[in-house]
Amino acid sequence: MCTVCGCTEGTPSTKHLEANDAESHDRYADHVQDDCDGHSVLPPPDQSPPLSNHGGESYNRRRSAHHQALRSGAGSAGLRGGGMSRKKIIEIERDILGKNNGIAAVNRALFVADDLLVFNLLSSPGAGKTTLLVRAVSELKRRRPVGVIEGDQQTSNDAERIRAAGVPAVQVNTGKNCHLDAAMVGAAYRHLPPLTGGILFIENVGNLICPAAFDLGEARKIVVFSITEGEDKPLKYPDMFAASSLMLINKIDLASLLDFDLGKTVEYARRVNPKIDVLVVSARTGEGFGALYAWIDKQASDRRRIVEDTRL
Ligand code: MG
Repeated sequence: MCTVCGCTEGTPSTKHLEANDAESHDRYADHVQDDCDGHSVLPPPDQSPPLSNHGGESYNRRRSAHHQALRSGAGSAGLRGGGMSRKKIIEIERDILGKNNGIAAVNRALFVADDLLVFNLLSSPGAGKTTLLVRAVSELKRRRPVGVIEGDQQTSNDAERIRAAGVPAVQVNTGKNCHLDAAMVGAAYRHLPPLTGGILFIENVGNLICPAAFDLGEARKIVVFSITEGEDKPLKYPDMFAASSLMLINKIDLASLLDFDLGKTVEYARRVNPKIDVLVVSARTGEGFGALYAWIDKQASDRRRIVEDTRL
């Protein structure tokens, strides 16, 4: 079990193009079994104690402690897991993230060798990542090769939308996993045509927590924030905003309909990450996309300079 977020670890969940219901079902069964290993030795609260138990009061106390352990989050985000010591949880978390970071380093070296600029897009579900990408790749493809890796728990809907815009896309269905990991991205990348000198966008699973912890080998993380979400998202989910180089404030075309405080949102984001760049866009109307393309061009020139400096 992944103690960063509680999803399964190491299940072969990267798939090319289409979901496979039977395989997804198998992964679900694996996940349930993982949970059973640690959690279901006691029945749920609404079930009677077993007859062999020595006294209902003792049983209820143990059952209450058990469920309290499952609910509690000790300390920083991710440190939870019924029945495991804090030391064990940290060891597992380090192991999972260590393995992921190793694969991410391989991905990053491959992307640099292919002269590819890679962005990892993160947001809560419904913030508008796919709509934003459809518009961006439709315009960016005129100047350089562009490809997309799409991550969702199920369906290939988003990859189909990108392909309809004339850009190659690979869909990864993560099943019970709530984030992409570096191995999934490495596998998906091999299914894309050569993108040398171009841009690869990775649209992560919609989730403001776990994707922040998993390096995929990208050059930059971009968090997409929709103005319908509330100004305090950066304070509620600081890891995501701390890990990102750019915050795209999307759906600005709806501002006149909402009591949205742009200044407060930017202030909260910079309280978490003073260096974060901020751009205001509308994926629906195209407002602000010129500034986004300029930001992308700057990342490309910065990266080129770093690579050249490294070779000197
Ligand atoms: Mg999407």
